[in-house]
Amino acid sequence: MRKLASFASLAIFVLPIALGACQASSSASTQPQPQQPPPYYGPGPYGQQPPPYGQPPYGQPPYNPNVPPSAPAQPPPVAPAQRPLLPPLVGVAAWQQELRSILSELLAALNQSNQALVRGIPLVFDPTSEVNAFAGCDEQGAPFLAATSGILEAVDAIAQTKATDELFGTRTYDAYCDAVLPQLVKSDKARAGLPAGIIPANLGGDLRRWSRAREIFDEVLAFTFGHELAHHYLGHTGCAKGQGGSGPDPTKLGRLATVVPLFNQVAEASADSAGAYNSLDAGRARRPQYPWSENGGVTLLDYFARIERAAGQGGPLSLLNPLGVLKTHPNPLARIPLLQAVARTWHQQHPG
Ligand SMILES: [Zn+2]
Repeated sequence: MRKLASFASLAIFVLPIALGACQASSSASTQPQPQQPPPYYGPGPYGQQPPPYGQPPYGQPPYNPNVPPSAPAQPPPVAPAQRPLLPPLVGVAAWQQELRSILSELLAALNQSNQALVRGIPLVFDPTSEVNAFAGCDEQGAPFLAATSGILEAVDAIAQTKATDELFGTRTYDAYCDAVLPQLVKSDKARAGLPAGIIPANLGGDLRRWSRAREIFDEVLAFTFGHELAHHYLGHTGCAKGQGGSGPDPTKLGRLATVVPLFNQVAEASADSAGAYNSLDAGRARRPQYPWSENGGVTLLDYFARIERAAGQGGPLSLLNPLGVLKTHPNPLARIPLLQAVARTWHQQHPG
C-alpha cells in the first residue's frame, strides 16, 4: 500500500495485471491422460486430418486421449451446436468495442457494494505493442483501466489459433507461439498479432471458426479484466471510490507501465481469485450464449508462461529481466493451480 501511494505521487502509477501461461498444455502433453474427458467445446479431431470443408466437426468422434487439449475440460451446459454463430470480430475497433462490452458484463455481475466502487471507471487504450493490461490512478487520483494494443492483438491471435485447433485438429497455437514469442521477447517493436500463414488458407473463412474464436477472445479478456477490476474494488489501487472520470492520456501509459517495479503476491492472488469469480458469475449470466469458464484464465496464464519461457531461452531478456507484465506478477505457472482451485469451489457452489 505504501508503495502504491508513492507511485501515485508520480503522476500516474500503474498496477500491471496478470497474464497468462502455458503450463497446462505442456504438462498435459507429456502425460497421457486416458481418463480425461473430451474437450469442453466438442470432441475436436486432434491429431486427425481436418474434416472436409463445410462438414462441421461438432460432436464427432474420435477424440484422441493421447493428445489432450491445453485447457481443462469443463462441459458447457449448452451444446456447441445449439449455440448461435457469432459474427466475426475483426480489427482493432471491433476488439475495443468487444472489451467495453465484456467490462459491462463484469460490472453487472459484481455485488452492489463493489459495483458502487468501480462504476464509471474509464477504459483507455494504450497504443503500445507491449502485451499488458492494468489498473491504475491518474494525475487527479481517478481510477482507470487500460488495455494495450499488444494485449488485444495477442488475445485475438490466441483465440484465432485455439479455435482453429479445436475445430480442425491443427496445431496453429503452437505454430503462432513458436513464430511470434521469440521475437516478442527480443524487441519492444515486435507485435503479438497473428502473422499471415499460420491459419491454413482453406480454414480462414470458416464461420464456425470465427464464432468460436470470438467466444475464446471474450473468455480470455473476461478473466484479464475481472482481475484488473478486482485491483480497484479490493482497494489495491486505493483510488476507486465510485467517482468515474475520463481517464488519463493513453500515450503516457505505456512508458509508465514498463518502469513500475510493483510486485505484491498477496494482492495478485486475491485479484486472481476475485477476478475468476467475477468472470464465472458474468459468464453464467450469458446463458444460453457460451458461458465463460476458467479456461479463459488458464489460457491467458499459459500464454504468459510461454512468453516467460521464450525470454529465458537465449534472448536478452531472462527471468531476471523479464517483460513488463511478468516482472510485476507471480510466476504464471504458479497462478494456474490457484485459479483452478477457485473455479472448483465456484462450480461446487453453482451446480448444473
Ligand atoms: Zn494484477
